[in-house]
Amino acid sequence: MKPEYDFLIVGAGLFGATFAHIAHQAGRRCLVIDRRPYTGGNTYCKSISSINVHVHGAHIFHTSDKQVWKLVTGLTDFNRFTNSPIARYGDEQYNLPFNMNTFHQMWGVTTPEQAATIIEQQRTRAIERMKADGVTVPRNLEEQALILVGHDIYTKLISGYTRKQWGRKCSQLPAFIIRRLPVRFSYDNNYFTDQFQGIPIGGYNRLTEALLNGVETLTGIDFFDNPQQWSDRADKIVFTGMIDQFFGYCHGRLQYRSLRYEHQLMENVPNYQGNAVVNHTDFETPFTRIIEHKHFEAFGDEVYSNPATVISREYPVEWKPGMEPYYPINDEANSRIYAKYREMAMQQQGVIFGGRLAEYRYYDMAPVMKRAIEEALKAIK
Ligand code: FAD
Repeated sequence: MKPEYDFLIVGAGLFGATFAHIAHQAGRRCLVIDRRPYTGGNTYCKSISSINVHVHGAHIFHTSDKQVWKLVTGLTDFNRFTNSPIARYGDEQYNLPFNMNTFHQMWGVTTPEQAATIIEQQRTRAIERMKADGVTVPRNLEEQALILVGHDIYTKLISGYTRKQWGRKCSQLPAFIIRRLPVRFSYDNNYFTDQFQGIPIGGYNRLTEALLNGVETLTGIDFFDNPQQWSDRADKIVFTGMIDQFFGYCHGRLQYRSLRYEHQLMENVPNYQGNAVVNHTDFETPFTRIIEHKHFEAFGDEVYSNPATVISREYPVEWKPGMEPYYPINDEANSRIYAKYREMAMQQQGVIFGGRLAEYRYYDMAPVMKRAIEEALKAIK
């Protein structure tokens, strides 16, 4: 007997929702399930005091891919949000990414040549110190950062933040985590270099709802509560959950970094920090960032039309089973384990593995959608 559905899609995040959208448009019968009580995966927004709160962390859509941008803007309107985070280091404040504004705030310089000279002097000093110790290739993240940007930027803007993020000193972290540290010799605070950038007006739920429009979707359902029963209902499975769980952890558990959020509603504070993202780069402050959500969708005086605000303090934490697996740890040990699961996934008939958990890699939203589009087009051929 032919199963009820062509595709059972496990996970209503951007990979699952995009796949479902393309397959549904092509007339395929899709059922989407998600273990959370809502769709959208990590992009889910909760409305608090009419503010769309990014409950799984700040999400800024950016891409240079015309196909993806055309798809998302065809489904819902996007605003002109530009990510320009601020860094707070004790009482000092800097613009990010590292640019002429940052260098002016740090050293009082005003020309690219002055800034470049200081950075070059500090880089040279770091390289000479390493050479004196007989080191030619950076042995850890600290050495890597010092030879890329020099002492001041490393100390004030990288060291404490990265240590909090990874729960280890930079001298104990592998150099490969930081391959490049771009410095900009222009007064440009736009964090991303992509052609397109913005936030869906009304929040990300609008995008997910549009993607899943007309697609049968069930929330609060964990595939692993009854994998056989769910699998029997469709010709093919699109699996976007944890790949090690799919294979019963037979090669061991993959590891992640997780985050804890403290969300706070301030009823009578219309503007808490004047920016969506403020990084706290000193080690002493226990959180890494404060997100003030209204700034994603309200600009200029619009900020004051709502007397309240919602902020979220972000605390990196060590991941344990049962916690949100936010960031894969692509070190040697985990990569070895993942390679074994990947091999099993390639042999597995009738299952498409996709997305950040099933592919065990950090994916931004646009690339995850791109990949889902490609997989869906292949699957419906
Ligand atoms: P997810 O969004 O995680 O969706 C997977 C879904 O599968 C989840 O809803 C989960 O509940 C469900 N699921 C898992 N297992 C099961 C199961 N057994 N049964 C049923 N359902 C299951 N990207 C950007 O482009 N810009 C940003 O600014 C940005 N900021 C980020 C900030 C943070 C803190 C994090 C963690 C990520 C950020 N990202 C950002 C990346 C973005 O979140 C991902 O690209 C996107 O979420 C990936 O979509 P996905 O569908 O692969 O995974």
